[in-house]
Amino acid sequence: MNQIPIKTACRSCQGGGYVQSEETFVLAGRTHHRFVRCASCEGSGKELCWIELEELVMMVRAIAAETQTE
Ligand SMILES: [Zn+2]
Repeated sequence: MNQIPIKTACRSCQGGGYVQSEETFVLAGRTHHRFVRCASCEGSGKELCWIELEELVMMVRAIAAETQTE
């Protein structure tokens, strides 16, 4: 079974690397939520995902088919 790692956008922070915390602070008379570094991806915004080679081939074919019809 061939498995290869691919990088996807982190599900916890949607690839932003930071997540909004419950903690707030006041700046210029407005309350803002403090952002903290995403614990899942440690701020990189990327998540490593292992998939099978056959699965990747199917995905690439699907993407290629979509691109052609556009
Ligand atoms: Zn993240």
